[in-house]
Amino acid sequence: MSLNFGRTQLAIPGPSVIPDRVLNAMHRPSPNIYHGELVDMVDTIFPDLRTVAQTKHKVAIYIANGHGAWEAALANTLNRGDKILVITTGRFGAGWGEVARSMGLETPILDFGMDADADPQKLEEVLKADTNGDLKAVLTVQVDTASTVRNDIAALRTAIDNANHDALFMVDCIASLACDRYLMDEWGVDVTVAGCQKGLMTPAGMSFVYFNDKAETFRQNTSPSFYWDWQPRTNDEIFYQKFAGTAPTHHLYGLRTALDMLVHEEGIENVWTRHETIARAVWASIDGWGINGAMRHNIRDPKKRSNAVSAINTGPEIAGKIRKWCEEEGGLTLGIGLGLAEMGTPEWDQHFRIGHMGHQNPTMTMAVLGCIESALLAHNIDHGDGGLSAAARILARPASQ
Ligand SMILES: *Cc1c(COP(=O)(O)O)cnc(C)c1O
Repeated sequence: MSLNFGRTQLAIPGPSVIPDRVLNAMHRPSPNIYHGELVDMVDTIFPDLRTVAQTKHKVAIYIANGHGAWEAALANTLNRGDKILVITTGRFGAGWGEVARSMGLETPILDFGMDADADPQKLEEVLKADTNGDLKAVLTVQVDTASTVRNDIAALRTAIDNANHDALFMVDCIASLACDRYLMDEWGVDVTVAGCQKGLMTPAGMSFVYFNDKAETFRQNTSPSFYWDWQPRTNDEIFYQKFAGTAPTHHLYGLRTALDMLVHEEGIENVWTRHETIARAVWASIDGWGINGAMRHNIRDPKKRSNAVSAINTGPEIAGKIRKWCEEEGGLTLGIGLGLAEMGTPEWDQHFRIGHMGHQNPTMTMAVLGCIESALLAHNIDHGDGGLSAAARILARPASQ
């Protein structure tokens, strides 16, 4: 007999749960795309996107997923043959590097493995050794969605400054924007890329490239294609130039509502604190269950973990059993382990991820954790007691800002 006849929940690291309010905002007839309500509404989106990334600089919107934003950021700043340094702390920095290589860029890699953050000291050494300034840019993720490590972006900026290096600093915040604290201008980031389907709670299909004055200066040497060019998108005289064609009308209504919720109702500081609290509740459960070695967080040091997503390593077969039980019996979809083992090997079933980005509250968190505990019990998997109550205790006392 199955109990799985209720509302299902997605707890993968993107797409995230879409609020009903966002879905309802999208449920409407197509608007006039030449003037009137849509055009006025879109103007209000840009300041809120800036608030989310804590920047006063420009942001271009693309009708694309995160891969599109990766390509757009590179196309506007770099030329075929340029050399850039790609920092990898999991899978996603490497993915951006692959896109760069496909565009004819040379991409030496500074790799920190699958369970550590980027070491600013190492970055400083590499940049100091680049005495001719051959490296035109440094690429990194803030959060790697596979390892679930969070890099210290301010410290990496300091490393670039200490090396007195002129490279453009480009940061992928696709997993972390509106989940983990991010201060683009204060931290001295030149280009930020983000997507709409994770912390911004909108169906996949839009992405964002923020760029400061230094990035605009870099751009003067490049000739991006008509479609990726961020200039008309941000200096538009005619509305359609913002999108190089028809606007993604319904996505924009959805995003408007998501930004109302995040920026105007909750406030971005509260959003970060909520995610911090919910993440700590998830980790408290993992710690509680893991007492007998059943599982542990992939990143040992809590200060280096993302507040958006957690990768969990388990004993043999445990992760596979948990994922399957949650999906089939519980109505909960958990994330697969990415880059921590090869698919089809026994190790594959020793990793899973919990996405806790975006639209999350204590009820949703406890539902995810409760379902995982039921899976552990259903399979008689040896685990520590008290995982759920540990989470409840954290949720009762939110992190202070
Ligand atoms: C999800 C994600 C991407 C890829 O985004 P897509 O929309 O799937 O192209 C890139 N980087 C990070 C850090 C991500 O979490």
